[in-house]
Amino acid sequence: MSVRVRYAPSPTGSPHVGNIRDALFKHLFAKHTGGTNILRIEDTDRTRYVPGCEEEIVESLQWIGVEYQEGFGIGGDCGPYRQSERKEAGIYAKWVQVLLESGHAYKAFDTSQELEEMREFQKINKQPIGYYGGLWRDASGVQVEEAERAGKPAVIRLKIPRGKTIVIEDFIRGRLEFDSDTVDDPVLIKADGMPTYHFAAMVDDHLMDITHIMRGEEWISSAPKHAWLFDAYGWEKPVFVHCPVIKGKDGSKLSKRHGDTRCLDYRAAGYLPEALANFIALIGWSPGGDRELMTMDELCEAFSLEGLQPSPGVFDLDKLRWMNGHYIRATEAPELVSKVREYAQAGEYKPYFEKEDHASPETIAALELLAGGFKSTPDIAGEAVRLEQERVTTLADFGEACAFFLQEEPPFDPKAVEKWFGQPHVPALIDHLIAALDGRSAITHDECETLVKEYAASAGMEKLGPAVHPTRVALTGKTVGPGLWDLMAVLGPAKMIQRLTRAKAMLG
Ligand code: GLU
Repeated sequence: MSVRVRYAPSPTGSPHVGNIRDALFKHLFAKHTGGTNILRIEDTDRTRYVPGCEEEIVESLQWIGVEYQEGFGIGGDCGPYRQSERKEAGIYAKWVQVLLESGHAYKAFDTSQELEEMREFQKINKQPIGYYGGLWRDASGVQVEEAERAGKPAVIRLKIPRGKTIVIEDFIRGRLEFDSDTVDDPVLIKADGMPTYHFAAMVDDHLMDITHIMRGEEWISSAPKHAWLFDAYGWEKPVFVHCPVIKGKDGSKLSKRHGDTRCLDYRAAGYLPEALANFIALIGWSPGGDRELMTMDELCEAFSLEGLQPSPGVFDLDKLRWMNGHYIRATEAPELVSKVREYAQAGEYKPYFEKEDHASPETIAALELLAGGFKSTPDIAGEAVRLEQERVTTLADFGEACAFFLQEEPPFDPKAVEKWFGQPHVPALIDHLIAALDGRSAITHDECETLVKEYAASAGMEKLGPAVHPTRVALTGKTVGPGLWDLMAVLGPAKMIQRLTRAKAMLG
């Protein structure tokens, strides 16, 4: 049978990088094996439902390049793919009936106060907390009928066998054994008729012919309940694959301290989806050897469950930044220019860089300037991006890197001014440049080079530095940036004359 896996998020909040990493593993596994990846929305917990979340899940998957061939939004043979709709279709009611009839499930009429008292008792007596039977697991038919007649609300619970070892074969961790006496009887159907995650997910995994339950390691403790459900029905169990958790470099659970957790925040921060996909694929999975930079196609080709690691994966933001810089440099210039343009004009960076933990008004201002530049002088903005390609780490960095091309009056770095404007030849250098540029409408890279070299020769300079550096400071306000001849050609004569004149005025 061909591989069928599912990504089954609960729409209870923005998908974070850990969720998307799991989704990516399923995509890679399905692609590698020629199988099917399914998107199923597990929205049975209505109290935690967050409106807009389903859309964000779909958008995050699309952005990073996770494909699914069946599921929410696209349909397929096993639909509907949203559990609240499956509940309305009567799927869970029908299947729980089977368990009630076979004696594998029972109705429990405990009030919330009774459950609270049970918990208190367990706490005081240092017993495991949970519902291990209570009054109702072995209640007689008469007791149940009475409670029903009295109109008492009931949940339906799974009857976990006692005194048994529940065995799970986990692909990564091997044989896992659980003492069934430590597994409580989970609710399958709540009093309002809604199925719980435990029930809906497993029934759906069976009905959707899921071959591998790939999910985060945090679900291992629920696995005996799930395995027993399959046994209670007499269904063949899928292969369990509990993927490693993601930790920060300091070994603690991944949190805001280690970087952003919301997937789309990486888009807002200027990361390329191919860099993020490459980076997260390697958290907890290894293709073997020291391969690191891999396209999505290469990841699909190389992926295997054997490469999944049992130990936690580490989230290293410095590595992501390095990868992102690599992907920016590897992008063809015209494509990069359109990516930067889209990024600057979409404006998603604004709310992102307004947030307290990474507030940066300078970044916002510079990106707004760049967005404006793409409108008013697209050629200059595009050339600026090309020239800065080598020097940035994220798309957001292009704002500040390109700013001096677009600012009317780029600010002078006082250190640069101090270092290079004090030398006696600078006024003559500036006059030479202004005179040579006067009356020209355009200038090439080579002509700029000749211009500055001519001055250096006429002044008897042995090295170009004393001509190049003050020119750069006069034109850009800084000592660092792209090649001088390149940036001069992009600025063009008119802008250069304006800036040189300003610098001259500053010299006094
Ligand atoms: N709905 C669960 C979640 O949001 C899915 C767990 C599973 O994959 O079994 O994490």
